[in-house]
Amino acid sequence: MNHTHQIAIDKVRNSKLDSTDFENLTFGKTFTDHMLECTWKDGSWSTVEIKPYGPIMVEPSCKVFHYGQAIFEGMKAFKDENDDVFLFRPEDNWIRFNASAKRLAMPEVPEDVFMDGLKELVNLDRDWVRHGDGLSLYLRPFMIASENGVAAAPATEYKFMIVMSPARSYYRGDVRVVIATEYSRAADGGIGYAKAAGNYAASFYPNSLAIQEGYQQIIWTDAATHEYLEEAGTMNIFVRIGDKLLTAPHNDRILNGVTRRSIIQIAKDMGIDVEERRVSINEINEAAKNGELKELFGSGTAAVVVPIKGYKHHDYTFELPELENSYSNQFKKALVDIQYNRAPDQHGWRVKI
Ligand code: PMP
Repeated sequence: MNHTHQIAIDKVRNSKLDSTDFENLTFGKTFTDHMLECTWKDGSWSTVEIKPYGPIMVEPSCKVFHYGQAIFEGMKAFKDENDDVFLFRPEDNWIRFNASAKRLAMPEVPEDVFMDGLKELVNLDRDWVRHGDGLSLYLRPFMIASENGVAAAPATEYKFMIVMSPARSYYRGDVRVVIATEYSRAADGGIGYAKAAGNYAASFYPNSLAIQEGYQQIIWTDAATHEYLEEAGTMNIFVRIGDKLLTAPHNDRILNGVTRRSIIQIAKDMGIDVEERRVSINEINEAAKNGELKELFGSGTAAVVVPIKGYKHHDYTFELPELENSYSNQFKKALVDIQYNRAPDQHGWRVKI
């Protein structure tokens, strides 16, 4: 049995809150007053420390710099009009975090360290969660190998930390994507399903080639054949063909998104036919050509739902139709209404702080 870990709190003397411009937030650039730190050493977790946000001291031989033992999560806190603060399905992130930890040979983080620590931290900085459409507090739990030494073996010391960044959704402009035909993000038996830092490092270069071509993102296909749709860099992908909603099944190459899971449920609640199965690019191209391809959109914590306006696959390009009452808009509205406590929470997804 896990014993409950103590939480030691050291509060800032001067809050940065008053000098923070909530109207002009760049995603992930501003951090709240406090952060959480907990160290794993000799098989056990230290006292959970909540302290002023600031630099941490590590040596250059720190293993994370050499072998990339690093994992993270991305989640959000929301405030309703009564100033109550909620997390959205946080247990799912904790479970996924530990699945990532296991795959990267890192220790699993006990529920009380992750969840009680997170709740305490969000509660302490609750004034940083603003009420208003699109406003939220982005939460970034992560873990790094903090042992010194360059021997290529799992570390014997790790730091679990949480930092938090106020976020505002903004209009990103139209999103058009390139469907990958050469590079891959993940392979069978690999770490695609984990939120491992290296997965993101590996995606930046191919993604930058898509940006050079005038697109915003690359959409990954399976590494073996490049014939089946997988996911985007930080989003799962949905396809609407006719009135049917399709998305790739989650497997060892694809991140099992919390937003994806929620959208599948919401779609089913709305009576929409949802299929989690392999979707070939050929099926998408054929549907595009015969007018059946209605929507393509991404889903993820940061942006919730992102409609895709067009795509390129080899030499073929296609522009999606403008729809009045798109699935993506309906899902986004349904989901944010639950997150901001404006709609009944029939599946028990909200957790009040
Ligand atoms: N795929 C990848 C590769 C991601 O990084 C993310 C963001 N966590 C997602 C999908 C979407 O997952 P979620 O809905 O849990 O944010």
